[in-house]
Amino acid sequence: MEEKVKKAIEEIVGKGNFTDDLVELVPYAYDASDHEHRPEAVVWPTDTEQVSRILLLANEHRFSVTPRGAGTGLSGGAIPIRGGLVMDLCKMNRILDLRIADRQVVVEPGVIYADLERMLAPYGYFFPPDPASSSVCTIGGNVATNAGGIRGAKYGTTRDYVLGLQVVLPDGRVIRTGSSCMKSSSGLDLTRLFVGSEGILGVITEITLKISPKPLSSKIGIAFFSSLREATQSIIEIMHGGIIPSALELIDENSIRVLKEEGGLSLPPVKVMILIETDGYTDSETWFQMERIIEVLKRNKALQIQIGRSTEEANELWKIRKSIGSLAARLGTHNVSEDVTVPISRIHDLVHGVTRIVQSHGLPFVIFGHAGDGNIHPRIMYNRSDPDERRRLQKAVEAIFKLTCQLGGTLSGEHGIGLAKAPFFHFEHGPVERELILKIKRLFDPNNILNPGKMALED
Ligand SMILES: Cc1cc2nc3c(=O)[nH]c(=O)nc-3n(C[C@H](O)[C@H](O)[C@H](O)COP(=O)(O)OP(=O)(O)OC[C@H]3O[C@@H](n4cnc5c(N)ncnc54)[C@H](O)[C@@H]3O)c2cc1C
Repeated sequence: MEEKVKKAIEEIVGKGNFTDDLVELVPYAYDASDHEHRPEAVVWPTDTEQVSRILLLANEHRFSVTPRGAGTGLSGGAIPIRGGLVMDLCKMNRILDLRIADRQVVVEPGVIYADLERMLAPYGYFFPPDPASSSVCTIGGNVATNAGGIRGAKYGTTRDYVLGLQVVLPDGRVIRTGSSCMKSSSGLDLTRLFVGSEGILGVITEITLKISPKPLSSKIGIAFFSSLREATQSIIEIMHGGIIPSALELIDENSIRVLKEEGGLSLPPVKVMILIETDGYTDSETWFQMERIIEVLKRNKALQIQIGRSTEEANELWKIRKSIGSLAARLGTHNVSEDVTVPISRIHDLVHGVTRIVQSHGLPFVIFGHAGDGNIHPRIMYNRSDPDERRRLQKAVEAIFKLTCQLGGTLSGEHGIGLAKAPFFHFEHGPVERELILKIKRLFDPNNILNPGKMALED
């Protein structure tokens, strides 16, 4: 980037909201994925007009712009792989309008998920997707990746809650999509096009979300199994048995070992655990649901079933589930976390197949995740400085994606394609679909300035 361009950006946002200082650039070379590339500068816009003026400038001088929320993405979407400018939206973090009567909230993209939750709680409302990174990730990042979470099986993902957006297009024009109504059949759904677009079509500067009344009661249970088949069969039967639990998580044998050896937990010697949560408005309603689920678990030979008796016990169980990833990460210098997803009826084939694949490549791994909506997280640990381990990792990851697609699944249930899954995009999407996606990108961004190098749009 030329000096005069840097000066022009600084003039748009003011001193203190722009840097090209090497030390300050370093954190922006990373997100939570396994990828890295340093930008040439970082900007912190504070309003939509600044975003628009910067994108105009980028088109004029042909520098790339990579939007960024909190940088917790797991597929490298916020990595400025072509250098250029990182646009950090963390200072656009105001909750603009809470309209309880309409069950809506309007926010800027830099609002942290947990801050929104805290703000909604006193009104008895919540924004359900609940990614495990909720204490730090931004709503803009959630929308751009179509984030999901533990409660996806019942409540869906971010996409199900976005009613409308304000977006700055790569050429600087500002558009509004969707409406402030609970439904709309008015023309093509541009909102859905931007949700999950990973910052390649526009910068999201305002989000209108539908919010939900928070259930007043919940129950959590844990079931232990001596075989994967019995656990996955329980999951399949629960999910089509008429009761939809608010969470249904699978924890594999390796995760159980990690919880014992790294986390110091005392757990029985079993092959698989599943965590189940039911929710509703009264205790009797949540108990009724849990009892139906317990029948399924017993029918499928659960060795032990424990039901959390207090909120503290329930919180403790969720803390254990959320700690698996970080405890497992200790088993290698680096790790990758995938989010492959299959139709629920294929969950056994996926977990069994991934286990076989990674075992055959001789790397430590754990498998856990939101099995209730067919989404699991294989996390594979490796040593990046060892070329042989790197090669084995790549082979294992490729085989996992091939298997997922053979099972009718998708490469990403919630993290997006970014850089990490770009080489495998063609496993899932045919040439005509890929050409259409490329044409849409070119229509929005003919000069390819916005988040270039992502979603397999370039060689
Ligand atoms: C410990 C941990 C747990 C996680 N658990 C989950 C989980 O349960 N579910 C889940 O879905 N994900 C999870 N993630 C991944 C990650 O938190 C989500 O993808 C999250 O939505 C990213 O938000 P962010 O603000 O960090 O976005 P970033 O990582 O900064 O950006 C992600 C993508 O969005 C784009 N982007 C960001 N803001 C905008 C904007 N305003 N306009 C246009 N594009 C934008 C970026 O260019 C990039 O492509 C987890 C990550 C970690 C580290």
